[in-house]
Amino acid sequence: MTALGDILIRRIRETGPISIADYMAECLLHPIHGYYTTRPVFGAKGDFTTAPEISQMFGELLGLCLAQAWLDQGAPPAFTLAELGPGRGTLMADLLRATRGVPGFHAAARIMLVEASPRLRDTQRETLAGHQVTWRDSVTDLPDAPLFLIANEFFDALPIRQFQRHPMGWQERLVGLDGDRLVAGLSVPMQLDMLTARMSDTSTGGVVEVCPAAAGIVTEIAQRIATHGGAALIIDYGDWHSLGDTFQALTDHAFADPFAAPGTADLTAHVDFEALALAATACAVTALTEQGVLLERLGITARAQALARRLSGPQLEAHVAAHRRLTHPEEMGRLFKAMAIHTKGSVPPPGFD
Ligand code: SAH
Repeated sequence: MTALGDILIRRIRETGPISIADYMAECLLHPIHGYYTTRPVFGAKGDFTTAPEISQMFGELLGLCLAQAWLDQGAPPAFTLAELGPGRGTLMADLLRATRGVPGFHAAARIMLVEASPRLRDTQRETLAGHQVTWRDSVTDLPDAPLFLIANEFFDALPIRQFQRHPMGWQERLVGLDGDRLVAGLSVPMQLDMLTARMSDTSTGGVVEVCPAAAGIVTEIAQRIATHGGAALIIDYGDWHSLGDTFQALTDHAFADPFAAPGTADLTAHVDFEALALAATACAVTALTEQGVLLERLGITARAQALARRLSGPQLEAHVAAHRRLTHPEEMGRLFKAMAIHTKGSVPPPGFD
């Protein structure tokens, strides 16, 4: 068992089973043994790779999308350019390079990164050397100013709770012990008002997931945008109205048992975009758009062709493969979705309906 596993086993022995959300939070963000604290998680060497790490085109096109939203709202002279969970800082670096030519955008932007992992903050500092960047612990720490924000694969890392439908209500899935092993179990059945709406699309045994942190974060973002102007682009894997068990662990680019070695695997759950939209009622929310469709609308084919002109051999092959990976429906193009939040009455950011 890992050091974190021993800590969790002791805790469960003393105080009883913990929620999947508590388990996820400890595994991902424990200050000493957490996954994001200890491991070089992204890219070919890490356990998974993300769109900005696959190709510079991702950050470039979404950056220009955000800059156009800023122009469409009258180019407010001092605004927050925020990213949630920036990983290695690659998306922000590509965004900033692509938007250099947008008059006034850089001068007006105060770049703020919301990042929980001290280790990743260091990496971001290196990637973004040469830019004025500050870090925040939470969206509540963002200033009162127009807010243009991007979050790629951030919401899937937030802790979820899972509930299983029972004839007498709902049982929460909990992490408990079988001897010295961590195992999933179920709480006693309880009535849960927050799941009343899910009675219609589930039956006994059905699993639903709730991400309490996500709703709070989106509400905060939407209130800021409604008050001060701005837009938020949220890209992640998931769907409108999630259903079923989507909790998963990835180690070394393969699925793993999420309870076998706490702290060593990336733990995620699909994002329920409907829940995000319901939390953003202060603003207008666009239709959920497939990543492949969005990137095509933002001009990825033309950008890919322009970049291809300077490449040959294995580099050209890798570039063509990256384009396909980001956009093809059988790769990331359909599983990953995007949604934009913008002020009521403003035009949606480009690429969104
Ligand atoms: N956006 C990046 C990284 C995605 S991984 C990319 O696309 O490559 C998730 C990121 O969110 C990591 O940077 C992780 O440290 C951060 N993160 C996870 N939970 C967080 C939380 N509760 N608050 C702030 N950052 C968090």
